[in-house]
Amino acid sequence: MKKIAVVGAGISGLSMANYLEKHKIDYHVYERRKKKDLAGHGFLIPQEGMEYLYQIIDPDLLLKHGNFLKKYIQYTHTGKILAEKELNHVFAISRHALIDLLAQNISPEKITYEQTIIPDDQQKGKLKLSDGRDIDADITVISDGSKSRIRSSIFKDETMKLVRESEVVNIIQDKEIADSVENDFIKFHHEEGGLTFGILKLTHDTILWYSQFDNEKYMINECSAENLRKYMLEVFESWHSLVPSIIKKSDYKNVHLWRVYELEKLNPFYKENTVFIGDTAHPLIPFTSQGVTSALKDAFVLTKYLVEEENIKETFRKYEAKRKPEIEVHINNGRTLLNQFLLPLNQQSENILPISYK
Ligand SMILES: Cc1cc2nc3c(=O)[nH]c(=O)nc-3n(C[C@H](O)[C@H](O)[C@H](O)COP(=O)(O)OP(=O)(O)OC[C@H]3O[C@@H](n4cnc5c(N)ncnc54)[C@H](O)[C@@H]3O)c2cc1C
Repeated sequence: MKKIAVVGAGISGLSMANYLEKHKIDYHVYERRKKKDLAGHGFLIPQEGMEYLYQIIDPDLLLKHGNFLKKYIQYTHTGKILAEKELNHVFAISRHALIDLLAQNISPEKITYEQTIIPDDQQKGKLKLSDGRDIDADITVISDGSKSRIRSSIFKDETMKLVRESEVVNIIQDKEIADSVENDFIKFHHEEGGLTFGILKLTHDTILWYSQFDNEKYMINECSAENLRKYMLEVFESWHSLVPSIIKKSDYKNVHLWRVYELEKLNPFYKENTVFIGDTAHPLIPFTSQGVTSALKDAFVLTKYLVEEENIKETFRKYEAKRKPEIEVHINNGRTLLNQFLLPLNQQSENILPISYK
């Protein structure tokens, strides 16, 4: 029986652990962060992703922790409606809530927090625990995120590129705003392009707001929450009144500034007995809203071949053959959505939905 080590307890690592658990395959998860130390943003999850989640999380429990969005409404920055679209089962949930739900099914002896996995400098291509011990496993599943150190130590010639879009994301508790946005996903767009402000409801009294900005035009750098608040107020001062009022009312304890990176060219999804899933295998531009769904599908497909195949190389080959073509579609869609975002509104095409479908 194969023993699996999973590196990273983000969405992809925990999904993998859940699928392995379901198939009674022996595994252990190693996670660098503290158990409760969860950086917070939120996800839009299209229907396909929900179907994979229902297989590993009790649907009633899952639905209690997030919210189905009914309609996407696109506005100019001053509040003129540009387009509306019904949403088909697009779910919004905070990262914190989804990680907690995915971790619930993993027994404490199968996951070690505050344990970083590092490349072994003495043995090329090998990994070890940060205290120097070897990893006790036949297969190592790497799910340590888009800026994976492990991946770059294995694929030394890879090139990571900063994407021309960054995001400020904040989750706030405010029932009044949550009531006012109902179940709509609202997004304001600057007429000159390269700047948006989106709002969506996560639970009855919690909303997520985010701003996507062209980082060549808007120089928002790593700074204190107070400076970020000031900068946001300056940039969005003349927008529709809902936007500055939300920025002003927000508590900034959960605020995040994300810089987005992508791989110039995808690496192979495996090397020897190491296999990559989720953002490590394929960082996706956030415009696709496909990060979580892709992570779930990677974990599902890899587990399926682990169950069906004896031979490790054949398992990985099948996994890559199944997943890579679909990922390439999302990468291309993400780049198209990014290019649209950078254009003035009157030059953007009418396909407005910020989700990539295959
Ligand atoms: C601004 C933004 C908005 C997004 N919006 C959406 C959205 O709306 N919908 C959607 O589907 N996706 C979205 N995504 C993408 C989504 O966040 C990811 O695709 C998803 O979280 C899967 O990530 P992951 O588990 O592969 O990696 P991560 O979430 O990065 O998890 C990696 C884990 O590995 C741990 N780790 C790292 N190094 C080590 C090590 N050496 N040893 C042990 N542990 C380690 C980290 O602590 C972390 O817990 C968004 C991303 C960004 C940046």
